[in-house]
Amino acid sequence: KAKVEGHRHLFYTQKMTDTVAQRLNLENQLRQALDKNEFVLHYQPKVNLASGEITGVEALIRWNDPLTGLVLPDSFISILEETGLIYDVGLWALHQALQDFLRWRAAGLNAVRIAVNVSPLQMRHPGFAAAIEQIVAIDPRAAQGLELEITEGMVMADMKQAISSLHAIRALGISIAIDDFGTGYSSLGYLSKLPVDTLKIDRMFIADMVTDPQGLSLVSTIINLAHSLQLKVVAEGVETEEQSRLLRLLKCDQIQGYLFSKPLAVEVLEETFLRRLG
Ligand code: C2E
Ligand code: CA
Ligand code: CA
Ligand code: CA
Repeated sequence: KAKVEGHRHLFYTQKMTDTVAQRLNLENQLRQALDKNEFVLHYQPKVNLASGEITGVEALIRWNDPLTGLVLPDSFISILEETGLIYDVGLWALHQALQDFLRWRAAGLNAVRIAVNVSPLQMRHPGFAAAIEQIVAIDPRAAQGLELEITEGMVMADMKQAISSLHAIRALGISIAIDDFGTGYSSLGYLSKLPVDTLKIDRMFIADMVTDPQGLSLVSTIINLAHSLQLKVVAEGVETEEQSRLLRLLKCDQIQGYLFSKPLAVEVLEETFLRRLG
């Protein structure tokens, strides 16, 4: 018996060591990825439901690992956060997104706005508002076209601090969207106090909308709530015509999802969608 337990113990320890080693290795690779400029932004269009036009794009980060190819953010964002690398990578993403945005502006695409995801950690950093201010100072048109997507969790962690940084950011002319809306613990009272412009309904609710009547009434309630607070609403993860049709009936402002387009490499986005807007 002792022998078996001994063996099992050894087995688990070996496994744990592997995991720690793997994480350390990934952490080093991510550090180098930033230096070697291996992160890339893909862009997913957002479409106005009434006009059918592209109103903006969301920047979604990927790591172009020379060994394995494109790595999606779900497998590295948490490590960037745990190691604090998210500060530098987050600033890189803002810089890169604005650079692309200003190039589109220069080409005459005045209607397309750009949204960048911001980690709660990044936003809580005391230097964040100043860093943003510096970035948008590059061009006076930058702030007007920029939207930051933040999650409910970020706001709930420290309401007072969140409200004051959001005010500072909005004073620069930047818009704020609440991402993954409905997955946190928002209350009506807090939502009405937040200086934000847009709610993005989490794709989980959009998936339930067609199959489940309660799901439909939930989405309808969120849209009406947003409008009563003078907020715009974006539905995430719209994959079918039926979802799109229902969302139009419910007066949702914009949709984003595979139905219209997956996130695209910048050259593909420009080739496919931005050209004809110009
Ligand atoms: P998110 O901000 O909620 O982004 C939406 C995610 O849903 C993206 O996954 C997108 O590719 C995916 N998606 C879009 N349309 C559909 C659809 O119709 N169906 C389905 N099933 N999925 C759809 P992605 O690109 O893997 O990003 C995952 C998450 O990583 C993002 O969720 C965001 O929280 C985070 N993230 C991405 N880029 C950044 C960044 O630059 N900074 C930070 N802090 N987080 C980022
Ligand atoms: Ca987002
Ligand atoms: Ca989201
Ligand atoms: Ca999400």
